[in-house]
Amino acid sequence: MTVTFDNSYARLPDRFYARQTPTPVAAPSTLSVNKDLARELGFDPDDLSAEVLTGNTLLPGTDPIAQVYAGHQFGGWVPRLGDGRACLLGEVTGEFGPNDTRRDIQLKGSGVTPFSRRGDGRAWLGPVMREYLVSEAMHALGIPTTRALGAALTGERVQRERGYPGAILTRVAASHIRVGTFQYFAGQNDIEGLRLLTDYAASRHYPNAKNPMEFLDHVVRAQAELIAGWMSVGFLHGVMNTDNMAISGETIDYGPCAFLDAYHPRTVFSSIDQTGRYAFAAQPDMGMWNLAQLATALLPLHPDEDAAVEEASAVLNQFPDLFHEAWTAKFRAKLGLARSEDGDGKLISGLLSRMASSQADFTLTFSALNTRDASHEVSDEGAWDSWAPDWQARLAREQDPDTTMARANPVVIPRNHQIEAAIQAGIDGNYAPFHRLAAAFTRPFAPEQEDMDLTRAPTPDQRVLRTFCGT
Ligand code: AMP
Ligand code: MG
Repeated sequence: MTVTFDNSYARLPDRFYARQTPTPVAAPSTLSVNKDLARELGFDPDDLSAEVLTGNTLLPGTDPIAQVYAGHQFGGWVPRLGDGRACLLGEVTGEFGPNDTRRDIQLKGSGVTPFSRRGDGRAWLGPVMREYLVSEAMHALGIPTTRALGAALTGERVQRERGYPGAILTRVAASHIRVGTFQYFAGQNDIEGLRLLTDYAASRHYPNAKNPMEFLDHVVRAQAELIAGWMSVGFLHGVMNTDNMAISGETIDYGPCAFLDAYHPRTVFSSIDQTGRYAFAAQPDMGMWNLAQLATALLPLHPDEDAAVEEASAVLNQFPDLFHEAWTAKFRAKLGLARSEDGDGKLISGLLSRMASSQADFTLTFSALNTRDASHEVSDEGAWDSWAPDWQARLAREQDPDTTMARANPVVIPRNHQIEAAIQAGIDGNYAPFHRLAAAFTRPFAPEQEDMDLTRAPTPDQRVLRTFCGT
């Protein structure tokens, strides 16, 4: 084995985590090993046996812990959450990018921890397949995300509404530090812990940040870019609680997430989101709300109490403009516009409102723009004809709009009905649909002929209207 573990989080003080080894499982078998990612991280894919992917065998150099954090769940404060069904095995080191030298390796579904509350610490095949497929699809779409290194079956049953096959996901993340991790220490009034965490997180993710406010500034920027990325592919996270927002700027926790089929800004999928708090178009506001919680948590680190609020507000209040800029740039590209002109915003919103009234499929509409004709999708009476001529005129002032659009408009995205079908087949012991999707989702912009049926929108009876948290 060539990989080296260096477990910096486990060297922080004891109150940052609980030492916790995975609970052994009965009969491990491999569902999937992500060989490309394994090699990128320095693993020999053969090292990642079913025994390793379930935690029955610990790789040398790991030092398993369950991390503590807090969080606002649907706006309600929970002072202590933590890894209730996950185990951070350790960190692998390498040159992953500029100032980017560590990756967490975590098992999700690895058994009870001191933070499990009433949970069983386990995961079942459905959420494990969903997170594997969607996180790897997001990566291929160019959106920052945690990754899936592997998935394995435990050979045990997990009891939910009924019994399901148990499974474990091996998750890779730049780190698992969340907004809620800062809230935990602030909530405990543990200022020394808060300072240690901030210094640690800054040096790991934003080494140029010289103080907590500069650190906040980096997180604000990363989240503005991330959420704009979500919106640009029609991704709905579904449970943007502060414990599910990573300060690295990676998408994390794929519980009730889903991609839009028909576009509507108020779309909600999650069965528990009854007020639409995390509806599609609410995501930037909710991102800002979460960042305000991070800003609040960081206030005690400021030497001057009054200046602290003012400075933190100034940093935070950049978010709407940063988001709008990132969002506009991404949607401009989707329309084939590499340059910026004054009327572009109106062109974008004009298309989106026509898509909403036409109940147009989000992905099919934008990929149809690549052929210059989305009249089949934007089908409301007169909708296409009242928009297309202005767009055509604007396109005439672009150098190479076809390339711009081809890079910005994916053709194959992880559609919810396809994922549900793969999960259903998996429950029956047929993993072929899962493997097929996993392969297709690696090439969203350049599908192969065999992927083309995956581009279709769901028929009315295939449409998935509700998703459930991955517990
Ligand atoms: P989530 O909604 O997936 O972000 O989870 C919220 C919290 O519930 C986290 O602290 C999880 O660790 C915990 N949790 C979720 N599912 C389970 C489970 N099956 N067993 C124990 N804890 C869980
Ligand atoms: Mg979570």
